[in-house]
Amino acid sequence: MIRINRVSREKALTVRSPKSSFHIAKLNGVSYMRILKMQPKFLDVFLESLEKFGALYGPVQRDGVLKYDRVENVSELDLSDDQHHPMIPVKKLFNPKQFTMLHFNEKGFYPDYSMIEKRVIIGVHPCEINGVLRLDEIFLNDPIDPYYAGLRENSAIIGFSCWPKESSLCRSAGTDIVDEGFDLFFMNLEEFYLVWVGSSLGYDMIHEREDFFEQDVSHEDIQKYIEWREKRNKVFKLDIDFGSMPDIMELSHNSEIWKYFAEKCLSCGQCTMVCPTCNCYNVSDVFDVTNETTGRRERTWDSCMFVDYSLVAGGHNFRGDRADRLKLWYTHKLKSFGSEYGRPGCIGCGRCVDTCPVDINVVTVSQALVSGEVPKQ
Ligand code: SF4
Ligand code: SF4
Repeated sequence: MIRINRVSREKALTVRSPKSSFHIAKLNGVSYMRILKMQPKFLDVFLESLEKFGALYGPVQRDGVLKYDRVENVSELDLSDDQHHPMIPVKKLFNPKQFTMLHFNEKGFYPDYSMIEKRVIIGVHPCEINGVLRLDEIFLNDPIDPYYAGLRENSAIIGFSCWPKESSLCRSAGTDIVDEGFDLFFMNLEEFYLVWVGSSLGYDMIHEREDFFEQDVSHEDIQKYIEWREKRNKVFKLDIDFGSMPDIMELSHNSEIWKYFAEKCLSCGQCTMVCPTCNCYNVSDVFDVTNETTGRRERTWDSCMFVDYSLVAGGHNFRGDRADRLKLWYTHKLKSFGSEYGRPGCIGCGRCVDTCPVDINVVTVSQALVSGEVPKQ
């Protein structure tokens, strides 16, 4: 089963962890935790020690591109919090871009779970963790996706704080902080880290090097954290009123604005590839060239922005118009995902703002729908 971790920064009673001398907080019978402190000089050695819990993954520079990948050494990791994150989100480690689902022959089929391994994913930002929690709603609800579930269950998440980019919307999306979905979370306050422990596995990790962690977080330390939050909150430049967007989407169904964006859209699908909550995929069977009864089933990311996405038998395409495809995407992000799961399908990462070559993104679209005016050229 997937770990469902509840942590909170609320005040709480404290009880002793059976394995550790650190305090676990408890409120209304639910385990919460308190915050620990770590000096930056211990970070690399501590992260190296996590190898015991699985293969290490995190953001690394590969051929000049920042991407999530496996690392042999933590010195490879790029954990700086200065306004950048991998363009392809961490979803690729839970719902891979392409993989073999199963092998088949004349006798039957055999699921292929060979990609599942114990992993520790380091350096995941709060909005990304919220993105994974959104994917959980999709892939772990009945019927459970066994590939996603296997990868999720075997992955520890070590979150890291970050600094907003120009395109960040996470504050208005409420995803700039995270209260669950991680095993450990490191808040970088430069002089020291505040470390939230989000699961029993997180406690086991801390237990490996208890000597690195200080239990007593002083009033001054908390004050520094509050100042950091206040300073960071002033950096955000973009804002969307996500609460009003479902009604606006409903009212804008026949808006001319969709036609304006459709004329510009290239149907390239980049927005869907980089969006942490997009999860569409295609499935195809590949037969052996020498034996047509054997082969494998492949699963590959797909995009509702592609023209053939809604092509069905008989040649009918029920979303052949770009305007309809754009409307579908934004309706899903800003209205229907929230109706189904209680939270918007946008986690405010800003990737669509950064990536769309013709400036169609969650900001320009929502601003146009709210104002009734198309963006100025
Ligand atoms: S909205 Fe932009 S990124 Fe998305 S398919 Fe159209 S052109 Fe490509
Ligand atoms: S819609 Fe844009 S800002 Fe929102 S989660 Fe997707 S890529 Fe990020």
